[in-house]
Amino acid sequence: MGLSVTLVCSDELSKGANSQWAQGGIIFDTSINPAQLKRDIVAASDGTSNPAAVDSLVEHGQAAVQSLLLDELDVPFDREDSGDLKYTREGGHSDKRIIFSKDLTGRAILSNMHDHVVGLEGVSVLTNTVAVDLLTLSHNSVDPQDKYKPITCIGAYVLDTGTGEIWAIIAKKTILATGGVGQIFQNTTNQKGVVGHGVAMAQRVGARLIDLEYIQFHPTVFLKKNCPLFLVSEAVRGEGGVLVNARGRPFMDAIHPMKSLAPRDIVARSIHQELIASGENCVYIDLTSMTGDFLKERFPSIHRRCLECGVDITREPIPVAPAAHYSCGGVYTDLTGRSSVANLNAIGETACTGLHGANRLASTSLLECLVSAKLTAEADRDDVEAGDFHLPDVRAWESPDESPDEVLIEQDMRQIKSTMWNYVGLVRSARRLQRARRILRELEQEIGEFYSGNRLTRSLIDLRNAVKTALLVVHAASLNPNSRGSHYVSSERDDSEVPLVSLDELK
Ligand SMILES: Cc1cc2nc3c(=O)[nH]c(=O)nc-3n(C[C@H](O)[C@H](O)[C@H](O)COP(=O)(O)OP(=O)(O)OC[C@H]3O[C@@H](n4cnc5c(N)ncnc54)[C@H](O)[C@@H]3O)c2cc1C
Repeated sequence: MGLSVTLVCSDELSKGANSQWAQGGIIFDTSINPAQLKRDIVAASDGTSNPAAVDSLVEHGQAAVQSLLLDELDVPFDREDSGDLKYTREGGHSDKRIIFSKDLTGRAILSNMHDHVVGLEGVSVLTNTVAVDLLTLSHNSVDPQDKYKPITCIGAYVLDTGTGEIWAIIAKKTILATGGVGQIFQNTTNQKGVVGHGVAMAQRVGARLIDLEYIQFHPTVFLKKNCPLFLVSEAVRGEGGVLVNARGRPFMDAIHPMKSLAPRDIVARSIHQELIASGENCVYIDLTSMTGDFLKERFPSIHRRCLECGVDITREPIPVAPAAHYSCGGVYTDLTGRSSVANLNAIGETACTGLHGANRLASTSLLECLVSAKLTAEADRDDVEAGDFHLPDVRAWESPDESPDEVLIEQDMRQIKSTMWNYVGLVRSARRLQRARRILRELEQEIGEFYSGNRLTRSLIDLRNAVKTALLVVHAASLNPNSRGSHYVSSERDDSEVPLVSLDELK
């Protein structure tokens, strides 16, 4: 049965997505040594992954990449002269099992996917349209009897950012695929607007959320005064790059047997300690084991972006520091994308099956997106074929006509980001979390009043969801006193109370 699908995209299709910026690659050959891959995922997670989710990824991963990315979309992954796929390695991986397209893997995948999706029968794409809130029988139906039914999602209110019009899309199944939360932190690798829209919307209708304290900080993000932050892929270390301090000492050697390729949480915290000890802003990736020609060919985008900031990686090391990168937690789902709310699914970074536990293994997330999308689509198709859906009319959206003050929105967003960076970052403590909660609660109240008194805009929706997501992360972190993976709680007298460098200091 052909389903009718509406894709709601807040920007142009595939723009504004973190997927577009994925550099390192995607795990492909899950058959090389599946038991070792599972061990690597579990080891990276500090022993906290959900084994069923790990099994599912390893079982379905290879077929998903083969059928969609290689056979159907013909993504131009790098190949040997023989035509075989090239493989690389990243932090926490004990084998070379990742395929890539130079250092622009996400862009290569999304540009081919874009052309494919646009022509698909039964799929309509709404661009520059933002999902505002989910619709449920109990909250939004015009039939008062529907409030006695179990919480069931029946679509979403959406805003056309061009016309300002808000309307309801009614659907048998609603799938959240809104990505991560990185932009609630001051320093991040994530795209603008990535503030946990799916998490915040799901929370407002009562969906279960899990593991939100587990925010992964990528250890190596380019950091130089007056320059934009951008990711320096772990593949740079996978190909031979070595982390050194300002004196050129490879400090990871004494910390972990995998040295510069240890799991991300360990590397990020070691850099943090190194920066506190040295008083420097950044450490460096030493590239002297690779030739300039190799670097330019293998990492053209990183080479170009560093050069634009005055760093020639064929001749000098890359200055890097950690930044918020990936949300391991999110909207709880089973392995077929079902959340705790009927007919509401979630996939990709906004969802959480427990695959990553407390810390994600590199290059598992694109694979998870593919696998969870496929399994969810198959389960939804079966449900829709078998099901009997109650889709009543819903109340029209009402909103005031007053234009919001963009300066206030900008200031509030800055405050959220600096609060999260300074108090809910790589190293947390009970006192810091308490302070963050106080500041964010006050902000949430003000933003709530602002929200109900003004015409809806994209930036106001971002702000409302950002403060909600930030509070949810703080709440989860406060409830978990155990340091595991990416969630590290220090004692009050720990010297790591010093916050990491902020962007303002670099200007
Ligand atoms: C710089 C960088 C490099 C990375 N490199 C790798 C890598 O090499 N390998 C790997 O496996 N992973 C990598 N990751 C992680 C991986 O890219 C992400 O986890 C993954 O792409 C998330 O995909 P997604 O579809 O869940 O979200 P996204 O790709 O972020 O897509 C979410 C989409 O939802 C839209 N959206 C959000 N809210 C709304 C709303 N309210 N209404 C309408 N639309 C909305 C957004 O505009 C966006 O288009 C990297 C991440 C970053 C930031």
